[in-house]
Amino acid sequence: MTRVLGRDSNPLRVAIVGSGPAGFYAAGHLFKQRDLMVEVDMFDRLPTPYGLVRYGVAPDHLKTKSVTKIYDRIATNPNFRFFGNVELGKHISIADLKRHYHHIIYSTGTQSDRRMGIPGEDLSGSHPATQFVAWYNGHPDYRDCKFDLSQETAAVVGVGNVAVDVARILCLTPGELRVTDMADYAIDALCESNIKEVFVLGRRGPSQAAFTNPEAKELGLLPGADVCVLPEEAELDDLSRASLERESDREVEKKVEILQGYALRKPTGKAKKLTVRFLVSPVELIGDQQGRVSSMQLVRNELYETESGTLSARSSDQYEDLPVGLVFRSVGYLGVPIPGVPFNESFGVISNYKGRVIDPESQHPITGQYTSGWAKRGPTGVVGTNKSDSVETVTCMLEDLQDGIALKSSASSVEDLIRQRQPDYFSYSDWQRLDEIELANGEAAGRPRAKITCVEEMLAVLGR
Ligand code: NAP
Repeated sequence: MTRVLGRDSNPLRVAIVGSGPAGFYAAGHLFKQRDLMVEVDMFDRLPTPYGLVRYGVAPDHLKTKSVTKIYDRIATNPNFRFFGNVELGKHISIADLKRHYHHIIYSTGTQSDRRMGIPGEDLSGSHPATQFVAWYNGHPDYRDCKFDLSQETAAVVGVGNVAVDVARILCLTPGELRVTDMADYAIDALCESNIKEVFVLGRRGPSQAAFTNPEAKELGLLPGADVCVLPEEAELDDLSRASLERESDREVEKKVEILQGYALRKPTGKAKKLTVRFLVSPVELIGDQQGRVSSMQLVRNELYETESGTLSARSSDQYEDLPVGLVFRSVGYLGVPIPGVPFNESFGVISNYKGRVIDPESQHPITGQYTSGWAKRGPTGVVGTNKSDSVETVTCMLEDLQDGIALKSSASSVEDLIRQRQPDYFSYSDWQRLDEIELANGEAAGRPRAKITCVEEMLAVLGR
């Protein structure tokens, strides 16, 4: 007699690779299904869960991080297990997952960043913003990065929320830094920082800026930095004005108002100055004799309407030099392929349709393989955007289950395999013990949390 998959006697076994928001929302939606008996195992190459909520969300945005309470609640389901410190491709293979699970979801995010593609980009002192973010957030892989904060001037290329986070963090006062959950070494380095001027560089105009309004407003409230927009760059060009009138998007109107308000401000003599520039693109980073970035050549841009109706930037023949000692490119995260999983190089995502992993040649779904979050759609949206994204993926999984589409896994215990291959794996209760230690250490230091940033130390504090 065949037992129906997803019923009590034959639970649907799901592996989720990646423990960021997308992975948790997928698990949560699976557990919500009334008539489904499902067991979820979540894997992460780090001992700690939460992905970019721990290692990407700004350390002074503690409220955003409280979303982890939802993930902890999902993790209390008796059919949920966490295998942290277990890396796909190292401790466990896709073939292993196929043997142990009926469905696999890749929620691995985007682990690299886009490049500007200009000369001098790799000079010393020029860094991806994503590395700086991971460094100050205490990501074990980036804790040893070095940023020369003895420089007086920094430029952040791009005007998305990551660029704004980086610029704001560079402008926080020691008092503000010390009440974040930033890594200790980063607080020390930033308290000692010599940065006095930060430029944030947008290639298009104020109405096309990718940052959101709360983040734009926050810049105007910094106790330690005067925010500035050049009046001539705050003015909308004819195309932007016409587009705004046509679309009457209140959010964009508000954003332009905020930025134009900054253009009217007079410096108040704060220790630092943060200038948001528009319609400029770096064309080259110029180095000194030691090969360190010392300035940046900028070209002034103008906007034109593309065939699809969007306003794009093209360079003019006007150039300027901006002296800078530190450059962060913040022009977007980029997905990296997982060996053995089809990858769309043009979009930097796993090849998929609505979350079903697709064979690029046949364009047919690959049995039992799914994706959700940034690995699926690219690095867009806020934390909560991953909820509807993962619901869409799980909906595909449930439809497939109805049609009997699943891997023919055997029921042997994956825990034995993992114990054998990675005895130092972290269960959710291991993580919860570590969490308590970090919170207690933070409390002792008058901070929300003191992060442990080294995997060996995470193991050691748990007596492993
Ligand atoms: P993003 O929002 O896509 O912004 C990328 C920025 O880089 C845009 O301003 C883009 O300009 C610019 N850019 C791209 N290529 C460029 C180039 N070659 N030269 C100059 N500029 C270039 O990406 P992100 O800032 O990395 O953020 C990723 C996602 O995380 C976003 O959805 C963001 O909202 C979210 N996030 C949210 C928060 C928050 O809620 N507080 C914090 C951090 C991140 P164009 O528009 O002209 O392409």
